[in-house]
Amino acid sequence: MTDAPSHLFYQARAPRPFLSHGEGIYLYDESGKRYIDGSSGAMVSNIGHSNPRVLAKMKVQMDRATFGYRLHFRTHPSEDLAAKLAGLMPGDLDRVFFVSGGSEAVETAEKLARQYAVTQGQGSRWKVISRTPAYHGGTLGALALTGGKLFAGPFAEMFQEMPHVRAPQTYLDRDNLTEEERGLKYADELRERIEAEGPASVLAFIMEPVGGASTGALVAPDSYYTRIREICDDYGVLLIYDEVMSGAGRTGTFLACEHWGVTPDIVAMSKGLGAGYAPLGAVAARSHMVEALLDAGGFLHGFTYAGNPLACAAGLAVLEEMEEQDILGNCTRMGAVLMDRLQGLMARYPFIGHVRGKGLLTAFEMVSDRETMAPLPKEWNAHSELVELAYDAGLILYSRRTRGGVEGDHFLVCPPLIVTEAQIDEILQILTGALDTFAA
Ligand code: PMP
Repeated sequence: MTDAPSHLFYQARAPRPFLSHGEGIYLYDESGKRYIDGSSGAMVSNIGHSNPRVLAKMKVQMDRATFGYRLHFRTHPSEDLAAKLAGLMPGDLDRVFFVSGGSEAVETAEKLARQYAVTQGQGSRWKVISRTPAYHGGTLGALALTGGKLFAGPFAEMFQEMPHVRAPQTYLDRDNLTEEERGLKYADELRERIEAEGPASVLAFIMEPVGGASTGALVAPDSYYTRIREICDDYGVLLIYDEVMSGAGRTGTFLACEHWGVTPDIVAMSKGLGAGYAPLGAVAARSHMVEALLDAGGFLHGFTYAGNPLACAAGLAVLEEMEEQDILGNCTRMGAVLMDRLQGLMARYPFIGHVRGKGLLTAFEMVSDRETMAPLPKEWNAHSELVELAYDAGLILYSRRTRGGVEGDHFLVCPPLIVTEAQIDEILQILTGALDTFAA
């Protein structure tokens, strides 16, 4: 069945079996083989698979109405979910716009920023400075932010690339600075970039507070986050946090920005919000910005499926489940356990060069030399080899061979946030077996 012809043209590294069903942190193929969903898909399935209470609540909505266009009806699921989200947001980020995925959320954030600036008589501001490496989505607008050849590929000519600053990858730095000093040094590159671009042309700065597909769970020094907020304030530049991956509880707080007490002006979310039960994303913005837009005639933007009631019912059920099961608490506790276990692997495998993350947004990176952090030879194809070994043994991981132009194999180990300590041991057991085979 695995090799049956397909009309789809998705890219998988190797032939994949048909999915049968899922339960909790496990997925099963049609032969009955069990897999630990060690990356929650692509950091999506935060509350695990087939959660009966979420499914039951979705069924209630399905029986009522699966769709009602947002310009024709208000719906309780979308209103209730927006209210719940507003309550979870820091500061006054309490106006919400729903979308169906991460790229849509990022582009909505950009368009909202731009229209707000125009209402403020600041139409000269249009540049959205982003970081490299970064990942903000696959649509052309999001790719303009993402930067670098890796994702832009042959599409680079089709959009106007936005200015970038370097994302701090301080574990690669060999200087005499402390982490705090490095954080400030990298943040100050934003100030220089704004000056170089001309402050009156800069609309916003967008960043993933904890890197995802781009840098593999990379966290910046604490000083970085607060300094970035200060710089944005100094220049009247809007701060957009792309929390598509880091949000919805993945790092142990509802939004990752809470770890640093920094409130962005706009936040983009998706992935864990629908948690695999529905394609769902959201943008939350500061209320005075949205009021200004509405006063000026409304938000010139929209997607057909924005706020559809079934997706919102799923999102609401996911958030309720997170509260009832203390998912954030479990994420923090199990994140510490997983980090400890992964760090333990460094004693056994010299090629594990760096372990990092926040909550259960966790990764390790392979290197050929821990001192210099030189990558493994490209021909070893480590990012793919190890993933396939683990997959065969029943553990799904997410890997990339990039750290932004610099070669490097990193592996995200991001199980659903309901994972138990015994299940983390299971993950480590399979991972160790795969690493042993890889090393042999
Ligand atoms: N932003 C971030 C931080 C992401 O990780 C992703 C997806 N990996 C996206 C945006 C794009 O999301 P989507 O694939 O749902 O469009």
